[in-house]
Amino acid sequence: MSESWIVVGAGSAGCVVANRLSAQPGRRVTLVDCGPALLPGGVPAGVAGSSFFAALQEPGRMFPDLLATRATGIPATVYQRGRGIGGSSAVNAMVALPGSESLYRGWGWSDCAEAWSRVQIPAELAATSELGAVDQALLCDDRAEPLKLTRQNGKRVTSAEAYLWPVLDRPNLTVRSEAPVARICIDARRATGVVLDDGSELEADHVVVCAGAIHSPVILLRSGVDTPGIGSGLQDHPSVVFTLRLREEAHHASDGLPIASALHASVGSDVLQLLPMSHIGPARETAGLGAMMAALMTPTSRAGSVGISRSGTPVVNFALLDNAHDMQGLVSATRLALDLLRSTAFDQIVERIYIDDRGTTIEALTGESSIEAWVRTHCGDYVHATSTCAMGTVVDDDFAVAGYQNLYVCDASVFPSIPDANTHLPTTMLAERFGLRHLRDV
Ligand SMILES: Cc1cc2nc3c(=O)[nH]c(=O)nc-3n(C[C@H](O)[C@H](O)[C@H](O)COP(=O)(O)OP(=O)(O)OC[C@H]3O[C@@H](n4cnc5c(N)ncnc54)[C@H](O)[C@@H]3O)c2cc1C
Repeated sequence: MSESWIVVGAGSAGCVVANRLSAQPGRRVTLVDCGPALLPGGVPAGVAGSSFFAALQEPGRMFPDLLATRATGIPATVYQRGRGIGGSSAVNAMVALPGSESLYRGWGWSDCAEAWSRVQIPAELAATSELGAVDQALLCDDRAEPLKLTRQNGKRVTSAEAYLWPVLDRPNLTVRSEAPVARICIDARRATGVVLDDGSELEADHVVVCAGAIHSPVILLRSGVDTPGIGSGLQDHPSVVFTLRLREEAHHASDGLPIASALHASVGSDVLQLLPMSHIGPARETAGLGAMMAALMTPTSRAGSVGISRSGTPVVNFALLDNAHDMQGLVSATRLALDLLRSTAFDQIVERIYIDDRGTTIEALTGESSIEAWVRTHCGDYVHATSTCAMGTVVDDDFAVAGYQNLYVCDASVFPSIPDANTHLPTTMLAERFGLRHLRDV
């Protein structure tokens, strides 16, 4: 007997899911994505290069109309998500961190070790020659360390390269790019296929939605799926960014590696992360600038949400800093960054440090109340949206949507709460768990 599966979205999770499902010859798998293809010999220069800023500028690789509110009083701006085959793995900063095992154990994910052992994304340290002056300054602190990046021999490895390219010749796997899914077809609470934006219908016995933590709930809501909790509980790591005007000798090539090191610190049970950037993109006006991001990796607020407008477009509000814990945590991360930025190592490479785009400098942050006020008005995200179709609420342990048959979600939206690390590798592990749970022969 043969069964058909449609996988919606070819990002960090979707590429894994399509690979693992199509490993069973009795399954016909169609992977559809709304954005551009990513084929051997056809990787855009920006995606193949070292700078994720260039990757984000490749045509069609972002959702330019996707706006999100970060926190109360801060105007909504574009929220970066990868688009097209490879998804966010084709545009991300390649930071490769697994997240705490204790967190996964706490969720009862006893198969994590097996899932990690199946992860096919390579990770390696950057060459010393690629480190910028901002990395070098951070690494003067004992707590800082070079980061592994999802690269091999100095080149980005996207989820498409790791999981799709090796199996493109499987006769039971079809990959379709430029095919946006409008909604899922549901008949008597059973998924029966999808409808594309052009009105065409693809039938299938099973549908797995892997469109990411913003677009997966949007597609479910547009399809009339009424499982309680869809779109609620949206999280990201709250952050602030300092912009560094670097001394001439500390300038970094704008096509070089922007991020190669980090500093992690604990305050009680909270994890703080400092992420230095040796450059912030290729634009003429950002030449000679670097940055330091300070983030809280253990936020607890669940007030964020993804909904849809009357016309079915995403309505996204992260509601960051909605509780006192997250506010205090981000203030701690900010203080940690301020200490580092005021150290001799940074003094030697930085001319001036800005705290906004109007030219206000770090000297304005004189005391506790000015830091708190600045954090509240300048809090941003970390492009790590999660938990809008949380396991235990929206989907069960097998990733099946509660109250429906043959309908699944597998991507960063499924995390019960946000992992305490950058989310690409944890999402890959999560998708390997989907593969393990759907291994049965057909
Ligand atoms: C700029 C940036 C930098 C980042 N840096 C890092 C980093 O350095 N390290 C790290 O660990 N994490 C990083 N992240 C986060 C990480 O990449 C994501 O959390 C992870 O890739 C999410 O995987 P996903 O499968 O949930 O979604 P995605 O990888 O985003 O995949 C979703 C896919 O669904 C497709 N899709 C959406 N809507 C539809 C539709 N209607 N029809 C068909 N297809 C659709 C999209 O085109 C996309 O391909 C970064 C993210 C961004 C955007």
